[in-house]
Amino acid sequence: MDTAVKGIVLKTKDYKDSDKLITILTLEKGKILVKARGVKKPSSKLKAFCQSFCFADFELVESKAGYVLTGVNEIENFYNLTLDIDKFSYAFCVLEIVDKICAENQEYVNIFIDCLKCLQQMSYSSSDCRLILSKFILNIINYEGFNINLNKCSNCKTPLVGDLYFDLNRGEVLCSACKNFDSIELEKSVFSALKILSGCDYDKLSTVKFSSLILDKTLKLLTKNINFKFDIKLNSIEL
Ligand SMILES: [Zn+2]
Repeated sequence: MDTAVKGIVLKTKDYKDSDKLITILTLEKGKILVKARGVKKPSSKLKAFCQSFCFADFELVESKAGYVLTGVNEIENFYNLTLDIDKFSYAFCVLEIVDKICAENQEYVNIFIDCLKCLQQMSYSSSDCRLILSKFILNIINYEGFNINLNKCSNCKTPLVGDLYFDLNRGEVLCSACKNFDSIELEKSVFSALKILSGCDYDKLSTVKFSSLILDKTLKLLTKNINFKFDIKLNSIEL
């Protein structure tokens, strides 16, 4: 059966002598695995599109054996992300998070839209990529049903004032009376950054200014949280 999907290539893997297996996050079908036949041959017309970051309309044939790629209409290749090593590593981290969190053949419309917004912001805006990636992780945690409550202690429900702690395992902010073995101290500056980020959309991030140290600390906390919460290990980011 012929089918068409809008998607972003998350990763590719060599398969047999001249084929590739590409993992695509699609708007319509969630994360799918697609066989791209003959794309390692120099003459292949589809070769250029079987690369990470390619955002396109993909034409597929669906059979019992899975999806086979038959055509691509590229929308955006985010080529400029590959020209800047910092942007590239943060953008690659976005793809890695999506790949590790999304299960195959399950719809992820919100994550698809966020992933695209994130890559566009990293490509074209002046915002710091650490800020964009932190916003992305906050949203992903939210979409998966683990919203971080930044107003009340998640245990005793009192308003968050004084010394605060962050439970890395559960991704919850705790007051000093409720801190536990899994919690680390949450610096005031990082707590403020989380609050500002959670109330700010991607296109407004260029107006947000944090020091480089706070950006690193905020991203580190969120990355640790996502690793714990989803039981994954992100390889593309070293903090
Ligand atoms: Zn408490």
